Amino acid sequence: MLQKAGLIASFVAYAFNLLGELAWGSIETKYRQIQFLSRPPLTEHGEIRNIVIIGASYAGYYTARAIASNLPPKSPYRVVIIEPHSHFHFTWVLPRCCVVDQEHKAFIPYGPFLKGAPEGRVRWVRDRVAKVDRDGVWLEKSREQVPYAFLVIATGAGAAEGLPSRVAADSKAEGVALLQEMQRNIRQAHRLVVVGGGAAGVELAADAKHKYPEKHITLVHSRKALMHRFGPGLQAAALQGLEDLGVETILQERTATSSIVEGHINLQSGRRIECDLLVNCTGQKPTSSFMAGLAPEAISPTGTIRTKPTLQIQDEKLPNVYVCGDVAAVGIDNPNARSAIRQGMVVGYNVVREATGGSPTRTYNPFWGEGVIKLTLGLDKSISHVSDGKTELWWQSKETNRELMFAEAWKHLSVKPFEDGDRAEKQVE
Ligand SMILES: Cc1cc2nc3c(=O)[nH]c(=O)nc-3n(C[C@H](O)[C@H](O)[C@H](O)COP(=O)(O)OP(=O)(O)OC[C@H]3O[C@@H](n4cnc5c(N)ncnc54)[C@H](O)[C@@H]3O)c2cc1C
Repeated sequence: MLQKAGLIASFVAYAFNLLGELAWGSIETKYRQIQFLSRPPLTEHGEIRNIVIIGASYAGYYTARAIASNLPPKSPYRVVIIEPHSHFHFTWVLPRCCVVDQEHKAFIPYGPFLKGAPEGRVRWVRDRVAKVDRDGVWLEKSREQVPYAFLVIATGAGAAEGLPSRVAADSKAEGVALLQEMQRNIRQAHRLVVVGGGAAGVELAADAKHKYPEKHITLVHSRKALMHRFGPGLQAAALQGLEDLGVETILQERTATSSIVEGHINLQSGRRIECDLLVNCTGQKPTSSFMAGLAPEAISPTGTIRTKPTLQIQDEKLPNVYVCGDVAAVGIDNPNARSAIRQGMVVGYNVVREATGGSPTRTYNPFWGEGVIKLTLGLDKSISHVSDGKTELWWQSKETNRELMFAEAWKHLSVKPFEDGDRAEKQVE
């Protein structure tokens, strides 16, 4: 009991500390902006310098906003965002959108979140970075080189199988089509096997069983417990939630084949499960291979990029290169959007300091409270969980709103829900 009270007190202290850090940061930035006005320009002949940000999801989009809105008005720097997606992908709701027809809401229009930035301060490039060298980044489609004065790597993680963890499409229309195809496949299946007992697998299996109780749904997970990176309380609650819905859960088993053979899927133990749809929810990997030519030593065996506490890359030759979000090796067991956002803000602050003649002073220290998770267990139940690695707190909620956080996410990114010019609002059925 005392330990739990300590956990709550520590969380509240962290929240106050964060608010203080943000307030102090904005006062200091304003002060530097005023100082900057009386200085000679940092570049000769009005030359424009690029702060290139690769990836505009939680980490990159927040970095872009922090930089674009805090650079002084006469700064010679501009922000260049390189991102292949036409819209921000709201990853949290992808498992649900694989089951219920809310797919349009998972794609949030880019743009309004940066609307406070002065005219011409931000340039969007809709492409993918193929490689990076000391002078610039090379684009995949246009094959152009974009030079940088500062580089921010915010390329997160990818899933080879795409859904339900990531959408393997760049345009909204293609992404919507992929989600609709998955919904159709699940609707038409009789016996569904879900592989992977992390959040995506558990949520998808639970939603599918809730919506289609007549289907036989099996979840196969290679570890001793579901949600194995979290505490035992959440693990037990996730298993119980699936059992209550009627999902069959098989632990400590791996599939022997990656596709259905003669109406079955084989497990490594020799067991065969009848199956007409297989959904793989494993295998998210950090997206860092394009950095192999520039900083091979900084890439860890798991693919994350090693950083210093200031989030500069761990390579003394590259002080102008920063890394943030899921691709950054910052000592987090469960990478999450809150820590990606906070890292983005640290990077934004440090880059603005450097771009105004200072040095990077802010550091990122992981805080366990950022890893708070809300795991849905069917369309009307969820478990929220937080742990500092020693003590865990978790509580169950009845979800009266099946819309999850769709509208909040849109508003958070300064877009009116769900105005994207092509579809009227529709409720989850
Ligand atoms: C199903 C699911 C549910 C989740 N639920 C939660 C939750 O409830 N709470 C929470 O806090 N976190 C949650 N997460 C985790 C959260 O989504 C991630 O931590 C977060 O998305 C990380 O953000 P990021 O900006 O680092 O990278 P990503 O979101 O992975 O984005 C990377 C971006 O970089 C771009 N990119 C990649 N390569 C290139 C390239 N070569 N050139 C240009 N651009 C490139 C991509 O297009 C993408 O836009 C969930 C994740 C999943 C999959």
